Amino acid sequence: MAFDLPSLPYSRDALQPHISEETLNFHYGKHHQAYVTNLNKMIEGGPMADASLEEVIMDAAGDASKAGVFNNAAQVWNHTFYWHSMKPAGGGAPTGKIAEMIDRDFGSYDAFKEAFSTAGATQFGSGWAWLVLDKDGKLAVRKTPNAETPLTEDGVTPLLTMDVWEHAYYLDFQNARPKYIETFLGELVNWDFANQNLTDAS
Ligand code: MN
Repeated sequence: MAFDLPSLPYSRDALQPHISEETLNFHYGKHHQAYVTNLNKMIEGGPMADASLEEVIMDAAGDASKAGVFNNAAQVWNHTFYWHSMKPAGGGAPTGKIAEMIDRDFGSYDAFKEAFSTAGATQFGSGWAWLVLDKDGKLAVRKTPNAETPLTEDGVTPLLTMDVWEHAYYLDFQNARPKYIETFLGELVNWDFANQNLTDAS
């Protein structure tokens, strides 16, 4: 069964003025859609045609002969996770369980912000910054290149992600990736989603 482009959790203009409707038209409407379309073409009629998205990702991960399937499937998953990692009028300090764990594992929210911002800013070229629940039960920051995702790491639960591919910010911020990262944390990040992912993991 073919995959559909998942609905956005808000309208395409809902993240303005921080991320424009034009960016969502391209990033969601063109890029995310293209990953879905390409993935469907690649798995049609094959052994993974009826598998879940997560099964397709796990089957292709680390197998060079399935790099195309992995890249498109993981990008479908990563982008859906990214849209939920933001919300209108989001941003700022976390609340709830994730706030307690950030203080426990990073020392302070400012220290987390520094680690997450550095991960996003220093991911050379295209990729992603992540907040994950690591296998030791502690929060950790990750950066991954291209379509790579911590979903494939045994015992690691993704909690939040930030797309740092240029297509995520170029129309609104041009080359100023650090300004986009500051805006993601200050105005957009959805801590409710991180708290929900923590609850689901326990
Ligand atoms: Mn993207």
